[in-house]
Amino acid sequence: MKNILVVGGAGYIGSHMVWLLGQRGLQVVVLDNLSAGHRDAVLHGELVEGDMADRALLDRVLSARPFDAVMHFASSIQVGESVADPAKYYVNNVARTLALLEAMRAHGVGQFVFSSTAAVFGEPLRIPIGADHPCAPINPYGRTKWMVEQVLADYAAAYGLRSVSLRYFNAAGAHPLGLLGERHEPETHLIPLVLQAAAGRRAHVSVFGRDYDTPDGTCIRDYVHVMDLAEAHWLALQHLAAGGAGGAFNLGNGDGYSVQQVIDAAQRVTGREIAVQEGPRRPGDPARLVADAARARSVLGWQPRRADLQTIVADAWRWECRGGTPDAMLSVAARA
Ligand code: UDP
Repeated sequence: MKNILVVGGAGYIGSHMVWLLGQRGLQVVVLDNLSAGHRDAVLHGELVEGDMADRALLDRVLSARPFDAVMHFASSIQVGESVADPAKYYVNNVARTLALLEAMRAHGVGQFVFSSTAAVFGEPLRIPIGADHPCAPINPYGRTKWMVEQVLADYAAAYGLRSVSLRYFNAAGAHPLGLLGERHEPETHLIPLVLQAAAGRRAHVSVFGRDYDTPDGTCIRDYVHVMDLAEAHWLALQHLAAGGAGGAFNLGNGDGYSVQQVIDAAQRVTGREIAVQEGPRRPGDPARLVADAARARSVLGWQPRRADLQTIVADAWRWECRGGTPDAMLSVAARA
């Protein structure tokens, strides 16, 4: 493994991955159209600004050096938006991914790591959710990811393209040194919204429903640190390089925390009162999503290191205290 193409490497999870690949000594090219990513989040390698569906561009990029693998982080990720505007999701997440896979096939790149999601499962039949839990997504976002997972299984059988799909539960946290973090616009994720409220950048945080069948009535999720996700991708690359069989793996800590527990943790970490507004349920939110990541642990050897909620929130808070933007001096030092 030497050369890696990271599609969507300027985004939240992709940028942490690119940093880790740099630490591990790999050559990286980032392809990102900067529709959601940030140029200054690419702390290693070369950034090519452009679209994965631009075949002429892909031909140039993929013929410039012998890539060992492609990692694909670029997608539209908002469940609500996917219901209102499914075309955007099928085009961005399915059609553009197919274009990327076709370019890879044409250039003989045979290893692929794909960002999937717990949304492929839909309403869970049992908790925790193991890797072999049936997939029955309940919104277009989850369906796009499930479609690509099925495409990948077919491509493996027919063309020998080996791939790992990593189903993230709730990605959260930030680089522990504050180099990188979450910068979605608009922000829809709970932890950054809670911390923005703590920082005074928002008047309050809304709790989407307090009448779920959970101990405090709020939804329970499995928050997993972005650095632990990056490490899982690294292990997936090693697994593929060693000739391991592809497949899908769940990435979560196996611990569920409620929306209220996240707010309480944020109050402890920040030492600030966080104003809460009660809101209605958000359509499509299952009461509980908690991972059983046994397959990732046993097959990939994944061991999350920043699993506790306090650490996840503290790292995200360090980033938030910078105003949610990178520190220019730290970034220069990181690139050096
Ligand atoms: N949530 C909330 N208020 C918000 C944003 C999210 O109560 O402003 C809840 C949401 O209903 C879910 C949990 O927080 O139960 C995590 O939501 P998020 O959007 O962060 O991730 P998702 O579970 O959709 O991937």
